[in-house]
Amino acid sequence: METEDNLIGRRVLMLGSAATAASIGLGALGALPEAEAAVRPRRRAAFAVWDPITGRSTTAMSPKRVTVHIAVTRSDDIYGPGKGPGGSYAHFYNPRSGAPRQHQYLDRRAAADLNGNARSISVEHAGLDGDRMTDTQLRNLAKIFAWAVIHCGVPNRIATVNDLRGLAWHRLGIDGNFGRFDRNDRTTWCRKQTGAVWSNSTGKLCPTDKFIRQIPTVYSKAQYWLKKWGGRPG
Ligand SMILES: [Zn+2]
Repeated sequence: METEDNLIGRRVLMLGSAATAASIGLGALGALPEAEAAVRPRRRAAFAVWDPITGRSTTAMSPKRVTVHIAVTRSDDIYGPGKGPGGSYAHFYNPRSGAPRQHQYLDRRAAADLNGNARSISVEHAGLDGDRMTDTQLRNLAKIFAWAVIHCGVPNRIATVNDLRGLAWHRLGIDGNFGRFDRNDRTTWCRKQTGAVWSNSTGKLCPTDKFIRQIPTVYSKAQYWLKKWGGRPG
C-alpha cells in the first residue's frame, strides 16, 4: 500500500483539445475544463503526453525532488483502461521508447512515495530487474528533472542521505538489506541512513541497482536541458 486516501479509477479518455473533440463529433467533451487542456509549466511538462488518470489527488504540493521508480514490467503504458493503478500511481510513466506519459499535475500529489508524496514528483519506468534505462528513458528523465528544476523549484542536485532534495530514487526511503553502507555507492543508501518512509515493502529493490547507477548520467544530461531551456521559468 502506497496510497494516500481518495484516488484511483480508470484514466479518462483524453483528447488533444476541445476542437479535436468537436471535429470528431464528441461535442460533450468540449466542456473539458480549460485547465485540463492548457499546458501550464508549473503543472504540465510540454514534452509529455498528457494522460490524466481519474480519481487522482487534488491535494496541492510543493515538490522538492524527482523520485525514480521501476515498474517491473516493460509495458508501454501501465495506467490504461482496465489497468487501474492499484492504489499507487506516479506523476509520469517513462516507457523504453517514445515520449513519457504524464498522469497527474506537477503541483498536486501522486501516490508512489508514501510519506514522501508531499514533496515528490514521481516517475515510474518500464523495466525489469537487470535492465538499464534505455537512451530514451535517460533523455526523458533528464528532461523531467530539468523541467522540475526550472518550473517547480526542485533543487538542481543529486539527493544525498542527509538531503533528499533534487534527483532522488525510491530506495532512499525503503527499508531492507542493500549491503553495507558505503557513502560512495548509492545502491547501499536506504531508510537506515535517511529515515525516510517512502514504502512499506521491506527489501523492495526499486528502482534496482542498475537504474541507481545511471543517476549521475541522468543528472549530467539534465544540465544540457537546463542550459537549452534557459535555466529559468519560461
Ligand atoms: Zn518505487
